[in-house]
Amino acid sequence: MSTTVSGKNGTWRNWGGNVAARPAREVAPASVEELADAVRKAAEDGLTVKPVGTGHSFTSIAATDGVLIRPQLLSGIRNIDRDAMTVTVGAGTQLKRLNLALAREGLSLRNMGDIMEQTVSGAISTGTHGTGRESGSIAAQIKGLELVTADGSVLTCSEKENPEVFAAARIGLGALGIVTEITFAVEPVFLLTAREEPMPFDKVLADFDELWAENEHFEFYWFPHTGSTNTKRNNRSAGPEKPVPQLQGWIEDEFLSNGVFQVAQWVGRAAPGTIPAIARISSKALSARTYTDIPYKVFTSPRRVRFVEMEYAVPRAAAVEVLRELRTVVERSGLKVSFPVEVRTAPADDITLSTASGRDSAYIAVHMVKGTPYQAYFTAAERIFTAHEGRPHWGKVHTRDAEYLSEVYPRFGEFTALRDRLDPDRRFQNDYLRRVLGA
Ligand SMILES: Cc1cc2nc3c(=O)[nH]c(=O)nc-3n(C[C@H](O)[C@H](O)[C@H](O)COP(=O)(O)OP(=O)(O)OC[C@H]3O[C@@H](n4cnc5c(N)ncnc54)[C@H](O)[C@@H]3O)c2cc1C
Repeated sequence: MSTTVSGKNGTWRNWGGNVAARPAREVAPASVEELADAVRKAAEDGLTVKPVGTGHSFTSIAATDGVLIRPQLLSGIRNIDRDAMTVTVGAGTQLKRLNLALAREGLSLRNMGDIMEQTVSGAISTGTHGTGRESGSIAAQIKGLELVTADGSVLTCSEKENPEVFAAARIGLGALGIVTEITFAVEPVFLLTAREEPMPFDKVLADFDELWAENEHFEFYWFPHTGSTNTKRNNRSAGPEKPVPQLQGWIEDEFLSNGVFQVAQWVGRAAPGTIPAIARISSKALSARTYTDIPYKVFTSPRRVRFVEMEYAVPRAAAVEVLRELRTVVERSGLKVSFPVEVRTAPADDITLSTASGRDSAYIAVHMVKGTPYQAYFTAAERIFTAHEGRPHWGKVHTRDAEYLSEVYPRFGEFTALRDRLDPDRRFQNDYLRRVLGA
């Protein structure tokens, strides 16, 4: 078993740079047996245990002062079952490796988020999602899971086997055990035609229900201080494949979306008064385009500008009202917001603490570039989200606690009862879980 040290003086930091932790030690187990040993050894030493992925969560959900478990040696494609149409992967596998491996086999996940840097286990544990009318989060595509629980034993679950564990552990917040292997449903690889198009904010709000109903995957970005959005509609297509030409892709996705956007963020940070003008220019930078490609090339793109994010799921029917209120707050408060607001949707699912558990949802995400004060904006946005029974993304900044969360999750008690059973001594505890789930 190898041990690694991260960062300066053993300090672990997340991608957004807003969370740091000093684990007592780090372990990178190479097998389930080594992992189980590490959990037992931590118990003997009176230490808590926390597996991390790639640190892409903005909350302190992955932070620990106990034993930090690194995932890299528990990764790789374990099995592809073409009869069952499933793929089984090690928990530490990064989504990009999974997507590429599946594409080589002529297969794909059905839906995914904006990036593919995360580990599969990290992504599912916080409920990572993209946008979809019928298709839900990455966790909603799971068929089976294997975990090492607090006493070091191995537990497998699926719809048929330990169904009460399966219901909760697909989005387990790292609180129920350490996921070692995940089996996902896959499909024959398919083509998506993406239509990206600027649209007035008022039109998107007026037509939101139609835009959602007419598209398999609808999302949009609203640029605060402007009446402009960029919309994206992804729908399955018979082809032919028509990728974004390489040079055009570089200009639009790297130069404009990342490079020029980064410079605009720097200018905005140095001189906040310029932000509304910059926002008006940014909102016009990208023009309409249509392309057809395999799913991961349409759903995901690199994010090189570092930021901090808050995202809430609200009932889909409340989305337009929430956005109107958010616009009013930005207009009246004097806040200067240089980052677009992202809006996506998901159908209701059956996972205990999924942000879409039992409810058709719209996700509304607010961002600020790393290094700029975000509290005032996020506090104002959170006030609106919570007034609409919003459920915070488990991996994105929020201030909610167990009392609030037990009100917006009808099955909250089911999750905490399972946690009491699987982790009575709170081996997987950290400050974040104490806050959101209770002691
Ligand atoms: C640039 C960027 C883009 C993003 N885009 C999206 C998006 O489109 N949609 C979305 O929903 N979210 C998005 N996120 C959020 C991100 O997907 C989640 O925070 C995700 O959990 C990060 O995965 P990770 O591998 O980095 O896990 P980490 O952040 O390292 O860990 C997250 C949680 O998973 C737990 N965990 C990790 N491994 C295991 C394991 N083996 N067993 C049990 N628990 C485990 C950790 O303990 C922790 O509780 C984005 C974040 C960034 C920074």
